[in-house]
Amino acid sequence: MQRGWFVRRSRTEGLAIDEMNDAWVKCNGCQQILFARDFERNLKVCPRCGHHHRLSARERIELLADPATFVERDAEVVSADPLGFPEYADKLSKGRANSGLPEAMVSGTCTLSGIPIVLAVADFAFMGGSMGSAVGEKVARAMEYALEQRLPIVICSCSGGARMQEGLLSLMQMAKTCAAAAKLHEIGIPYISVLTDPTMAGVLASYASVGDVVIAEPGALIGFAGQRVAQQAQVVKPPPNFQTAEFQLEHGMVDIVVPRKELKHTLQRILRFFTGG
Ligand SMILES: [Zn+2]
Repeated sequence: MQRGWFVRRSRTEGLAIDEMNDAWVKCNGCQQILFARDFERNLKVCPRCGHHHRLSARERIELLADPATFVERDAEVVSADPLGFPEYADKLSKGRANSGLPEAMVSGTCTLSGIPIVLAVADFAFMGGSMGSAVGEKVARAMEYALEQRLPIVICSCSGGARMQEGLLSLMQMAKTCAAAAKLHEIGIPYISVLTDPTMAGVLASYASVGDVVIAEPGALIGFAGQRVAQQAQVVKPPPNFQTAEFQLEHGMVDIVVPRKELKHTLQRILRFFTGG
């Protein structure tokens, strides 16, 4: 999504550049120019082609949590640089600056249409929402808190996968988060997983795909290996849309594809079904 793409033209038309920058956005789906105000009101979904643009963690919390009910937990859990990986410290600083968050996951409690839940949301602006030790720890702690408090949990994923700068420590988060999800399953605490664009690799292959109900946003990229790698690795060329939410729905990896404007209502219905409320 581009803002203010035609600054030069705005000069020729004698309009304030700042005003034009804030007034327009370009859709990543149909490349049409949209009024930013309409675009924001439509929850960053293109009113022309329906393309779902990414939301930040804060925007998604605002979309799902009842006003002023979200209370953050574990905000102090942030990544270290255990391997001294080249440039990782810089990338962490940039991730903080890009997202305004200390880590790629925000977790806490809130009510959703009056139902108390644990909510965790990933933010792509922080190193592509990648899962390092801190993200894995926050997911596991959120699940453990849900278990302890007997609260349903909703996790919204948006991630390129495990964070390679932490090597094996990142991959261990896959087992840790799945072990926590298994405990929820054992006790019967509902876990709803929401897959947003993109949910890939180590995140899809761990906690994101083991929810009791797996919801996806329309058109979201959902898969394990990236499209180029998958194409190189396979003898038979995969179909062009094989890593979309709709393809995964058709093949049983996703239970339901829900447009963003219906997401809160759908979650409410599912949570009420599970909690009997
Ligand atoms: Zn569009």
